[in-house]
Amino acid sequence: MAQTALITGANRGIGQQLARMLATEGWDVLVGARDAEKGRSAAARLRKDTGGRLKAVELDVTSDASIAAAVQKLRDGAIKLDALVNNAGIYRGGGVGPTIETNFFGPLRTTLGLVPLLRDGATITNVTSGLGELANLDAEHRRLLADPALTRDALASLMHGFVRTGGKGWGTDAYGVSKAALNALTRILATELAPRHIRVNATCPGWVRTDMGGRGAPRSVEEGAASVRFGVTATETGGIFRDGRRIAP
Ligand code: NAP
Repeated sequence: MAQTALITGANRGIGQQLARMLATEGWDVLVGARDAEKGRSAAARLRKDTGGRLKAVELDVTSDASIAAAVQKLRDGAIKLDALVNNAGIYRGGGVGPTIETNFFGPLRTTLGLVPLLRDGATITNVTSGLGELANLDAEHRRLLADPALTRDALASLMHGFVRTGGKGWGTDAYGVSKAALNALTRILATELAPRHIRVNATCPGWVRTDMGGRGAPRSVEEGAASVRFGVTATETGGIFRDGRRIAP
């Protein structure tokens, strides 16, 4: 039986390329997109290119209602997931609140919504960035995020606090903080979901030529998606990887 993956923000960029890769490998792929029409046309384009099985799912990672509606649709179709890829993200220019909402609370909300539909032994891949390295943070927040006793609720309150203070005082910008927090969340979720053998990892695509990365980036979208692909069938859990190799938290 084919395995099923859901990728958020898969209507363009790295997410779309990963959808193409997995469909070519024979996966059933759910193309997450916050704009239903963009999702449908991406799925149609990829079906034509790959001959694979891809379907669009409307999913805005900043909206509880959108996630609940997507979950209901999957339940109605009796769909279970073998892989969830939290890829949707925004970069600098989004503002502090939207950046943390999309890049940190988005994966958290999406994971909590979809976890009942994940099969035991499934994987969750959070798409991170080298800009989220702890070394970029000031010493106090570096210590807080690295603390092995940090809980999901404490991490969420840290992020609410960061937004309330306008994104000041962490030593780096909202994008870097959102990805540093996503890395910490990855570690926490890996522990929480270990009893179900769900492996949770963060994978960095490197600096990639997409709308986000710009034309001057050194890596192709194929290289970026291949780096993220590692998480989909990783045997490890709780790690941060680029090109299949561990990188600094
Ligand atoms: P991109 O080309 O800008 O594509 C971003 C995707 O995320 C789009 O499909 C976008 O949908 C979607 N998205 C944004 N907000 C969303 C929301 N609220 N709900 C659902 N989807 C949403 O970016 P990319 O370069 O492919 O980046 C993909 C991931 O890689 C991101 O997490 C990014 O932080 C990470 N990353 C990228 C680079 C790089 O150099 N490109 C480097 C390190 C990490 P719309 O089309 O509707 O806007």
